[in-house]
Amino acid sequence: TRELLQHSEKLTMVGQMAAGIAHEIRNPLTAIKGFIKLLQTVSGNKRSYWDIVTSEIERIEQILNELLVLAKPTAAQYKPEDLKTLLENVTTLIDSQAIMNNIEIVFDCEPNLPAIECDMNRLKQVFINFMKNGIEAMTQGGRLSVEVRRHAHDAVKVVIADQGCGIPPEKLARIGQPFFTTKEEGNGLGMMVSYKIIEDHNGKVKISSEVGVGTVIEILLPIGKETV
Ligand code: ADP
Ligand code: MG
Repeated sequence: TRELLQHSEKLTMVGQMAAGIAHEIRNPLTAIKGFIKLLQTVSGNKRSYWDIVTSEIERIEQILNELLVLAKPTAAQYKPEDLKTLLENVTTLIDSQAIMNNIEIVFDCEPNLPAIECDMNRLKQVFINFMKNGIEAMTQGGRLSVEVRRHAHDAVKVVIADQGCGIPPEKLARIGQPFFTTKEEGNGLGMMVSYKIIEDHNGKVKISSEVGVGTVIEILLPIGKETV
């Protein structure tokens, strides 16, 4: 089955609350992290315990950072950016993870694309999230393809396709809900945050998937900020 998931605005309220909580937790956490570093240097022994505490704190920090993206769409910095360069940078970031998992990233970008009015860091986060999910879905290795094409006169389309496990229809409907994950080490925030960022760019996301075949994510981004 091929299913279509179109994102709605339902997460706005939940998202804002989550971001508020994330903000409140982050400050004390930063203090705790600082003191743990200090204790680590004075106590010296039981290094591995400190390392565990530190890595768990970093895990919490990562969750908070994802949630904080939802906080202030107005704080986003929109500037014209070259999508090709942006995606090449993301690919470089992801490369080591791909190589370790026996995955080939195939990047194909149409030449002379217009610049996209966007918040570069947030859009990078989106592509990192989608590409990581693709890699994580291909436990036996495979190909992750990233295609960039002009779409009509006012948009650019990015298609990210993997050859991973795929998503059954009943799960497809839940993707993007906060904390929905099927992974032991997952937090179930990547898709929600990504949808929100794309929505803030007046873009669209479509995800189609077939179990055992793979998943295709299509992202439409307007060149200006007019809704596509
Ligand atoms: P996480 O990756 O931490 O689980 P995400 O929000 O990024 O959280 O993804 C939520 C869930 O959506 C994943 O746990 C997985 O079940 C599913 N998913 C997302 N992308 C893919 C993909 N490319 N292939 C298979 N499943 C996916
Ligand atoms: Mg993820």
